[in-house]
Amino acid sequence: MSLAEVIGQDRAIAQVSRMWRNGRLGHCLIFHGPDGVGKSLTARGLAQLLLCGRPETVEVGSARMKISDGCGVCDDCRMVTRGSHPDLHIVTRDLSRHTEEGKKATVKDLPIGVIRDFVIEPAGWSPQRGRARVFIIEEGERMNRAAQNALLKTLEEPPANTYLIIVTSQPGTLLATVRSRSHAVRFAYLPEVFVRDKLQEAGLSPAEAAYWSQFSGGRLGPALAMARTGWYEVKRELVKQLAGLSYATALTTAQWCMEQAKTYGQAQEKQQNEESAASHTRMGQEYLLALAEETYRLALRGAVGLDTAVDQTQAIGAIGGQLGAQGCGRAVQATRQARGRLEYNVNGALLFEWLMLKYLVCARA
Ligand SMILES: [Zn+2]
Repeated sequence: MSLAEVIGQDRAIAQVSRMWRNGRLGHCLIFHGPDGVGKSLTARGLAQLLLCGRPETVEVGSARMKISDGCGVCDDCRMVTRGSHPDLHIVTRDLSRHTEEGKKATVKDLPIGVIRDFVIEPAGWSPQRGRARVFIIEEGERMNRAAQNALLKTLEEPPANTYLIIVTSQPGTLLATVRSRSHAVRFAYLPEVFVRDKLQEAGLSPAEAAYWSQFSGGRLGPALAMARTGWYEVKRELVKQLAGLSYATALTTAQWCMEQAKTYGQAQEKQQNEESAASHTRMGQEYLLALAEETYRLALRGAVGLDTAVDQTQAIGAIGGQLGAQGCGRAVQATRQARGRLEYNVNGALLFEWLMLKYLVCARA
């Protein structure tokens, strides 16, 4: 992944490339901004530039902006692309499985053990291929206080040619002492129309591209992820069923949701076998809830005259008409509540039944 391949973040890639060229790149950078707009990709692009054997100047974007970038063809660049460069360390919370804490329990945050074993210790080694050692900490907001305090020592006396990139959507959760020793690079939302064009370039129909770009609110990553589920038709059917929801159909709709999630889980398990069908099914349930929430959110916005849905305008309008703005608001709240419960391993079938009946109460209250 080179910097030039990152789309829609010209300002951020120009900033890091300029700092590198002027020899002013700090040892610790914080890449912050919304999820799914290219922070991690840019971090990999910068790592490639730092590790590349013959960096070059390339032109990017319609403005033909000049940036420094990895060459993409040397051994180091290839290793970065393949994910096998010995001097590039990607630190994720999955690594907690290899720590003492992680062996005992499932860890949701990024514990001190991971920072100690996978950042602080290897940061003391000299680069295996000589140029630099780069650490990318994903989901930096998950580092607890102890982990951040441990990291501080490395930040205070960074070994030569060691670079640390903390990627986060919530920079406010980082300790002031960590922030003050780092250089912040801000990533912005991508314009919806930009995301829509990218989805169309990826082969989606105009209606589908318009829907997912509105759904993701200018975050290309989530928009692409949803587009890849192939769930546009599922979304259309869900909206139809919600528009026609009644006491006679509520349980059938709940059951239909469960079947969609299950089908999704089984298909995903066949494609990638690291995780079980059950956890993919759970993901499918989460997607359905996200789509339902979006449906009522759009109905609410329509009901108060803000903006209209770009897809299934009539059905969304009908939901807004049946529930009114207040009812739509309550339906959004109920869906969020359901999404919260999903994290606690509740029975999915019961959850969807509860939610459908709740939607009907929202309409009457
Ligand atoms: Zn190269």
